[in-house]
Amino acid sequence: MNISAEIITIGTELLLGSTIDTNSIYLVEKLSEIGIDVYRKASVGDNQKRIVQIILESITRCDVVICTGGLGPTVDDLTRESVAEATNSPLIFYPEVYEKIFERFQQRKIKISENNKKQATFPEGSIIIPNPIGTAPGFIKEYESKFIICLPGVPFELKPMVENTVIPFLSSKFPSSNKLYIKFLKVYGLGESRIDHHLGELLYSSDPTLGLLASPECVKIRIATKSDSPSVAKQKLDDMEAKIKQRLPNIVLPGDDYSLEKEIDKLLLQIDRKLIIVDCSTGGMITFRLTQANSASFLIGSVISTQIFHDNPQIWIDIAKKHMLQFPFAYVIVLHPDIENKETVARILTIDSEEAYKIPFLGTEEKDRIRISVFAIELFRRRLQNITVNL
Ligand code: AMP
Ligand code: MG
Repeated sequence: MNISAEIITIGTELLLGSTIDTNSIYLVEKLSEIGIDVYRKASVGDNQKRIVQIILESITRCDVVICTGGLGPTVDDLTRESVAEATNSPLIFYPEVYEKIFERFQQRKIKISENNKKQATFPEGSIIIPNPIGTAPGFIKEYESKFIICLPGVPFELKPMVENTVIPFLSSKFPSSNKLYIKFLKVYGLGESRIDHHLGELLYSSDPTLGLLASPECVKIRIATKSDSPSVAKQKLDDMEAKIKQRLPNIVLPGDDYSLEKEIDKLLLQIDRKLIIVDCSTGGMITFRLTQANSASFLIGSVISTQIFHDNPQIWIDIAKKHMLQFPFAYVIVLHPDIENKETVARILTIDSEEAYKIPFLGTEEKDRIRISVFAIELFRRRLQNITVNL
C-alpha cells in the first residue's frame, strides 16, 4: 500500500524570501524513513482563505497533510482557524493544554496574555502533539479517514514533536508501508547527457528508480527502491548498480563517503610515489582539494604557479621537469589553459613519460575551477589505475 503525503509550510516570511524553508526538507527525510511518499510541497502566506484552499486541495489528493507554522498566539497565526474551517469543525478550548502553557509561563516568570488562550484551542476532536520545548502544541485532525497534522514553524521545536509523536503515530496508522532504500553512486569527468545516453532505458526502470543529479563536481546517480525487507531492497540496489557499472565501465564510483582525493592518496601510497602540481588553471583549487583530503602528506611542490590563464605551457613544463630531476619518483600534473580551443590541458609527467589530456572546460569562475580540478584528479586516477575510458 502506498501512503502519500503533502507538506504545506505556512508563513508570509517564506514567500518573501526572508526565511528559508528547511522544515519541509527535514520532514521529507523523516517520512521517507517510514515509507511515506511526499508527492508535493507548497508554501503559503498568512492568509486564511488561501491556507484553507491549499489544505483542501492537498487532503483530497493524499493521505496525510503536514502543515508547519502559524500556530503562535498572534493574529497572523491562522493555521488552527484554517484547519477548523477546512474540516468544518468548531474550535474547542482544551483546558488541560492551557494549564500546561500557564505553568510554563509561570516557571519562566512571564505574564501570560489573553491571546495565549488561543494556543490551547484546536479543531474539535484533535489529538494534541505535545511541544516539549515551546508553548505552541501541535495537533492532528482526522478528516475523512485522512490526517491533517499541524506543527509549529520553529525548526528546533518541530523536530522533537515529529520524532516523539508524529512518526510513531503515522507508523502505527500505516504499519505496512514499505521503507525507501536509496543508494548513491558517483561519476567524475563525464557529463550528465553522456551518462544519460549510456544508461539508456535503465533510466526508465520503475523499480528501482534511477535519477541523475549533476553538479560542477560530479554526477550523482540515485538508485531507489521501496521494500519491507532490507535484504530484498539491498539485492535490488546491488543488481541495478551492476547493470550501471556494465554500461559505464571503470568510472562508476561509490556514493557519499567516497573521496576521489583520498583515493589518489591511497594509490600513491601503495606505489610509494609523490605528486607535484603545477597549476596554471585553477588558482590553487586543485592543490587545495588534494591537500584537504591528504592524510599522508603525499604532495610536494604544491602550487608552483597560481597564475591563471598563463598560456605558455612550455615554461611550466620546463619548471616541472626541473622538479622531476630533484624528485625522480614523483608524478607531475601540469594544468594549463588552451585558450584557442576553449579547453584546459592536463599533462601527466613522470621522469620518462609525458601524456596530455584534454579537459573540455575553461574559465576562472568557481564552478569552472571545480570542474577542471576534479576532471584532472579523475584523469590522474585513471592513469594510476591504467584505465582507459572511451565513452
Ligand atoms: P510560526 O510558527 O509561523 O510563528 O513560525 C515561527 C518561526 O519559525 C518563523 O518566524 C521562522 O523563523 C521559522 N519558520 C517558520 N516556517 C519555517 C520553515 N518552513 N522552515 C524553517 N523555519 C521556519
Ligand atoms: Mg508565522
